[in-house]
Amino acid sequence: MTSETKFGLFIGGRETDGARGETRPVLDPANNRSFAEAAVGSAEDARAALEASEKAFHESWWASDDGARRAKALLRLAGRLEEQRERFALLETRNNGKTLREATGDIGYVVRTIEYVAGLADKLQGETIPVPGSRFDYTLREPLGVTAHIAPWNYPLLLAIRSVAPALAAGNAVVLKPATLTPLSALAFGRLASEAGLPDGILNVVAGAGGEVGEALLKDPRCRSVSFTGSVEVGRRIAALAAERVLPATLELGGKSPVLVLPDADLDRAARSIVQGIFSNAGQMCWAGSRLLVHEAVREPLLAKVKSLAEGLRLGPGVEEGVEMGPVVSREQLDRVLGFVEEARQDGGQVLTGGSKASEGRLAEGNFVLPTVIADLPAEARAVREEIFGPVLATSSFADLDEAVRLANATRYGLFAAVWTKDLSSAHSLARRLEAGMVNINDPPTSFPQTPFGGFKESGIGFEQGLRVVESYTRVKNVLVNFGGPRKKP
Ligand code: NAD
Repeated sequence: MTSETKFGLFIGGRETDGARGETRPVLDPANNRSFAEAAVGSAEDARAALEASEKAFHESWWASDDGARRAKALLRLAGRLEEQRERFALLETRNNGKTLREATGDIGYVVRTIEYVAGLADKLQGETIPVPGSRFDYTLREPLGVTAHIAPWNYPLLLAIRSVAPALAAGNAVVLKPATLTPLSALAFGRLASEAGLPDGILNVVAGAGGEVGEALLKDPRCRSVSFTGSVEVGRRIAALAAERVLPATLELGGKSPVLVLPDADLDRAARSIVQGIFSNAGQMCWAGSRLLVHEAVREPLLAKVKSLAEGLRLGPGVEEGVEMGPVVSREQLDRVLGFVEEARQDGGQVLTGGSKASEGRLAEGNFVLPTVIADLPAEARAVREEIFGPVLATSSFADLDEAVRLANATRYGLFAAVWTKDLSSAHSLARRLEAGMVNINDPPTSFPQTPFGGFKESGIGFEQGLRVVESYTRVKNVLVNFGGPRKKP
């Protein structure tokens, strides 16, 4: 059923309409018109996917010790995705709203992630451990079995495959549930995996409501781990379900990340990166630099630069050449973001620029929010404390480093922080004092498949990416052998 306008679920190596045969229209966030139809899966489809996964895990070659063979299949998959980069980027742009340039970058990141973990697939190994007596001890690293992956809508394919790829490299069979709003790229990816030679049932994609499909996956004894990327609220529910079943869970949740600008910083570079860090992807980034904390000595010049860059951003449908910021993903998200801005005004915030829906001409049809900068908000305002997940920057200032650290850490989140300074000592001491899983010095939010990505505090548990990520989808078994020989060494 999959063409570029109709998308089926992908279970057991084939496309299917799903048990209920239900579909939903997929809206283009740039104009809120339907351009495709996607199958909506059910709990029954989730169970069918688990069954197909378990069968493939036990009966196909995938989970064997031949990591090199898995690596080759994954490299073929990366190659096919690279060849179809434009097609997947277009799907992502039309479904999520992001610019084609951003989407093309996302797909490149997915290709690189698959290549990176493919290189680790044949490097999983155990240890031999000296023990007393006539004994021999060693460890085995085994795949977990069937792993579930639940993804959000802001980087639909990138965040799905960020955890799916290492789980596959470790020899697991996977069931992926993409976000309800943005299932298209993941559904198309299922077919690609099959074409690249992954055995039927090793990668299954079941779109559908989180409360139904997601929960059916986690409650089923065949599911052996969960990787979740999404909001803190749903993350709590996932953790509770995982606890019921004593299931390993990786949680990549939200953020309210501070950007600290010290008086000696290169203000031009800092301003460009601040704008990039909050207005890329229309601000819908878990690690958006959404709180600007600037030293009072450079507050005025920095805010003037940020304001001018924000006002210069070209808004429009992501498919158009030269557009720098697309719409937010849905009308609901638009209303949520504007609700935060309204509340910020009531809390005494001064809207330096933006603060409303873009209503000029054809932009009025879509979910476009003007790039927004708000100053002078009290620390307890919701726009300072809560994740808005839209193009809204809250700014405040500090007098010294202690105050900067106190403000930066005064949040329940701990995903990311950025520091702008040329002073080595301040940079490294802040890197240690900031409570965040990732600290970038003189760089906007930037990550690579080889660098760990994870949050502190309520931003999550565990990590994705990095050299250890494939291992995290395995379990360790210790084997002790008593070979009954002489007790002493000759
Ligand atoms: P969300 O939590 O609403 O949904 C995420 C996924 O969970 C979706 O697939 C959804 O269908 C599913 N889901 C919902 N209820 C469920 C349930 N009861 N059981 C199982 N699955 C369920 O998040 P969203 O709105 O799609 O994404 C935005 C959020 O994601 C933001 O908070 C953002 O910060 C976070 N995020 C975090 C990271 C990270 O790496 N830390 C990356 C991107 C996004």
